[in-house]
Amino acid sequence: MSDRLAEPLKAVLGARTAGGLSKLGLTTVGDLVRHYPRRYDSPGTMTDMGALTVGEHVTVMAQVREARVRSMRSRGGAMLEAVVTDGTASLQLTFFAKRPGVLRMHEDKLRAGRTGLFTGTVGEYRGRRQLTHPDYLIVGVDAADEGEAMLEASRPIPIYPASAAVPTWRIGRSVRTVLDPLTEADVPDPLPAALREERGLPTLLEALRLVHTPDDESAYRRGRERLRFEEAFVLQTALARRRAAHAALTSVPRPARSGGLLDAIDARLPFPLTGAQVEVGREISADLDRSRPMLRLLQGDVGAGKTVVAVRAMAQVIDAGGQAALLAPTEVLAAQHARSLRDLLGPLADGGMLTGAEGATRVALLTGSLGATAKRQALAEAASGAAGIVVGTHALLSEHVQFADLGLVVVDEQHRFGVEQRDALRERGDHPPHTLVMTATPIPRTVAMTVFGDLETSVLGERPAGRVEVVTHVVPADNEAWLRRTWARAREEIDAGRRVYVVCPRIDADEPEPADEGDAGAVAMLEGDTAADAAVPLASVAATLEDLAGRPELAGVRMGAMHGRLAPDDKDAAMAAFANGEAPLLVSTTVIEVGVDVPQATMMVVLDAERFGISQLHQLRGRVGRSDLPSLCLLVSRAAPGTTAHERLDALAATADGFVLAEKDLELRREGDVLGASQSGGRSSLRLLRAVRDAPLIDEARALAVAVVDADPSLTDHPDLDAAVAAWLDPEREAFLERG
Ligand code: ADP
Ligand code: MG
Repeated sequence: MSDRLAEPLKAVLGARTAGGLSKLGLTTVGDLVRHYPRRYDSPGTMTDMGALTVGEHVTVMAQVREARVRSMRSRGGAMLEAVVTDGTASLQLTFFAKRPGVLRMHEDKLRAGRTGLFTGTVGEYRGRRQLTHPDYLIVGVDAADEGEAMLEASRPIPIYPASAAVPTWRIGRSVRTVLDPLTEADVPDPLPAALREERGLPTLLEALRLVHTPDDESAYRRGRERLRFEEAFVLQTALARRRAAHAALTSVPRPARSGGLLDAIDARLPFPLTGAQVEVGREISADLDRSRPMLRLLQGDVGAGKTVVAVRAMAQVIDAGGQAALLAPTEVLAAQHARSLRDLLGPLADGGMLTGAEGATRVALLTGSLGATAKRQALAEAASGAAGIVVGTHALLSEHVQFADLGLVVVDEQHRFGVEQRDALRERGDHPPHTLVMTATPIPRTVAMTVFGDLETSVLGERPAGRVEVVTHVVPADNEAWLRRTWARAREEIDAGRRVYVVCPRIDADEPEPADEGDAGAVAMLEGDTAADAAVPLASVAATLEDLAGRPELAGVRMGAMHGRLAPDDKDAAMAAFANGEAPLLVSTTVIEVGVDVPQATMMVVLDAERFGISQLHQLRGRVGRSDLPSLCLLVSRAAPGTTAHERLDALAATADGFVLAEKDLELRREGDVLGASQSGGRSSLRLLRAVRDAPLIDEARALAVAVVDADPSLTDHPDLDAAVAAWLDPEREAFLERG
């Protein structure tokens, strides 16, 4: 950043104004000029003062008759009242402030006899028309003559993101104060000049003037267009560099070998692979055979069958003499992965034992809460190479875990893993392992490109044949008849030998926020429209178990409980009892959200469903409909019709297509939330770019950024771009990027 842009606002605008702006996260000149108007009001047309209508946005040319500041005894604070007239009708102007001093500036300008333009929305007070806090322009002070004043007044009025303490018009003035004296040299432009010229884009300084002080609508559009392109371009350059840096690393190629573990697994698979599984398997197999480390994102809706794709990749690496690590976001999922891998491999997982088949390997499970003996054994198997596959949670990433020869890391459900952890694994040893990241959270292509732009992506678009769609209904929580019917329905499933999940947002009734790994609280808080019913406690695992135990519809049904605070053994026991049908109804928090695979589960009841976000509910729903049995998902909700929460649930009921839902999710979220919650402050945030709407622009920027980085990888010829990229890639930013 240039010296001018780095200048503190305090030095330029004074302590009081700067203090207010700092509450909006704006502390330097650079911050302020990057604080773009949210929208523009069209200039008020010049109005005949005799015909003012309350509520109308107007601009009038008039002469000041009087202006005076007075204290308000009743309300505290001070006000300035002025009267302006066009010779016949008059209009009152009113300004309020905490202290009279603040109003002196207006009083000084609004001297009797002066002429000016006054803009605002017409209000009425005690039968008199008035403008409160009007914007105004005094001839002879703000403009040389009436002609110039008229010209000024015909401009669009920028409306800034503001606060009560700093209203938009004060921000506008502050912006103009800092922007006016800036020169091209003060405002380095991250866009390469050639690119700018080719596309006919204004410079950064020009663009800033266009958005802050536009002459007309086409001016601010031109400015915004350029700033939006800049965001896309800088972001894509950052990603292209990351990708280039990654490509410069070398990995050990792990070519496929016939007659090994992979072939043995394929021979044992109880089902034929889908076309998509074969196709993606081929892509990954080729990647593994390269000396460039694989960095691939595998997207597939819940139930698409990602695990078997991962298993086959791991088998190829083991056949080539390496090891594979499988990382899961929760202990429940890690344990399940270990269990199902051992099931799938059968005797192939008994390497080194009498029962072991030829070419067999071992699957070690390594989680944080493992007993000391088990942990020691798992660590030993990882270090010696006896375990071809090591399954674990974050504990796997700790420094103590040694691998004999780690060739592949599979990260399941990436959205729970930070980039630091991913990099920690990648930086081990002389050669980084190949990395396969799997996610069921459907990410629209455009977002994937923006957020995961440094990964290659594969999509498992086809679900295994014979799957039926999960039927989903929204059930109003206050309809007791429906609830009875819900539990009777659950009973029918259980009597038919199936399983039922009941999901609650909390563990205990008196808990302030969800205490386990579920995101429910975070989502609800983020979206802020679901907490209305504070009087009624949210459903908890404890209270729901009690309630269900007393329901005649469920008499005699054994129920299990599952949540993040259970000891690992108890979690395993609960999952096992549920899976084998001993306790066919499981009351759980969202710990079961990702990956849990019990094919006989055919019904899910989500209590207080309005507390959860779309993608989370979609994930949860993915726990049922995992076989050819028809399945049902009931979303019990207190959301009132017409609220966003209700709309989310309706969207879920309307479609099971994760990609459609992800788009809907983006649409329902407030604009800025698309790429994460931390959109508000920080000089390098995405401000104008929107992943869905701006897809073509992002595409274009990506191609241009790749070309620039290819020609000049260290950006030596583009220092201003380099600086902008560095701002993007500060550690906080990077973690945010990868969090998705
Ligand atoms: P996800 O993509 O959500 O991780 P899983 O890998 O857990 O899905 O697979 C879901 C279920 O589908 C599992 O029970 C798995 O055994 C089964 N499955 C996977 N591939 C196929 C296939 N090609 N045909 C039939 N069933 C399959
Ligand atoms: Mg899975």
